Amino acid sequence: MNTPLIDPFARAINYLRISVTDRCDFRCVYCMSENMTFLPKKELLTLEELDRMCSAFVRLGVKKLRITGGEPLVRRDIMTFFRGMSRHLETGALSELTLTTNGSQLEKFADDLYAAGVRRVNVSLDTLDADKFARITRWGRLPQVLRGIDAAQKAGLRVKINTVALQDFNEDELFTLTDWCAERDMDLTFIEVMPMGDLGNEDRLGQYWSLKDLRAQLAARATLTDLPENTGGPARYVRVESTGQKIGFITPLTHNFCESCNRVRITCTGEIYTCLGQEGHSDLRGPLRSSEADDVLEDAIRAAIALKPKGHDFDYSRQQIDGQVSRHMSHTGG
Ligand code: SAM
Ligand code: SF4
Repeated sequence: MNTPLIDPFARAINYLRISVTDRCDFRCVYCMSENMTFLPKKELLTLEELDRMCSAFVRLGVKKLRITGGEPLVRRDIMTFFRGMSRHLETGALSELTLTTNGSQLEKFADDLYAAGVRRVNVSLDTLDADKFARITRWGRLPQVLRGIDAAQKAGLRVKINTVALQDFNEDELFTLTDWCAERDMDLTFIEVMPMGDLGNEDRLGQYWSLKDLRAQLAARATLTDLPENTGGPARYVRVESTGQKIGFITPLTHNFCESCNRVRITCTGEIYTCLGQEGHSDLRGPLRSSEADDVLEDAIRAAIALKPKGHDFDYSRQQIDGQVSRHMSHTGG
């Protein structure tokens, strides 16, 4: 019975974000510590299991699939998975297959991604200064990412840049980044930093920069128009009237829009988190591995969706601001 996924609060679940690895070739200070211990391989969903998992969600009405990580493009043979998912685009069951990446491997994979039906990618980039880039990502190198962005655009992929807003780090680049994106016809989204990774030890880099302030700085320079667009998540958008550029603001800790939440997240070990702001989760790997038929998995998915909370209150967010998030962003993939 393929009735769509509707949670107890009548929200249709049509967007799945899935992490395909906990590993990464960068060590961004706000995301990871320098010495990370990664999961043993057997804990991860195999490529075949990822395919089964995502296909089950597509059967149950998921229309948009975002692949994330860790860094999704460092997962070995990940293009096999992307190519597999393209069959759901071909049938029309899936409307969009996309990914969030640090860009380091885009030069290598942009054409393959396009061939698999990917049309848009989010690339995370916090600075256009090569030294600062090396400092914030520890292991990343800016020219490689810029070549990746070039390759993506050349391949026909629409690129959106995601920038984590960090006071005393990229505050001085607000206009540089905005203009650089506008010149290259790329939308730009700012993300409010959440206290994770090694941020506490890197306080020179890690000052919290409120997106309200960032927006005010942009508004002082150009006319911004609020866009009614709502993607069912914590992002809000404005248009810069002079250039037509779209700028987004993601405040993960401000969940004023829980009533329209359409998404769930799956970790690389097959845990489903139905709310980014709550710790509650269910295991889907056990049901997936317990049977070759998919009905056990589908029942487990429905049971998990039935537990999706209505939302979470401000006090809970406050606890998170105080640093009580026990998950790393690379665990749920942001
Ligand atoms: N490796 C890929 C990348 O960097 O785009 C995908 C995974 S990464 C965890 C997804 C997004 O989460 C990135 O845009 C990253 O900047 C963001 N992120 C990581 N840690 C964060 C934090 N502590 N606060 C806010 N955003 C964070
Ligand atoms: Fe890797 Fe992305 Fe985390 Fe940076 S934000 S360490 S690129 S997973």
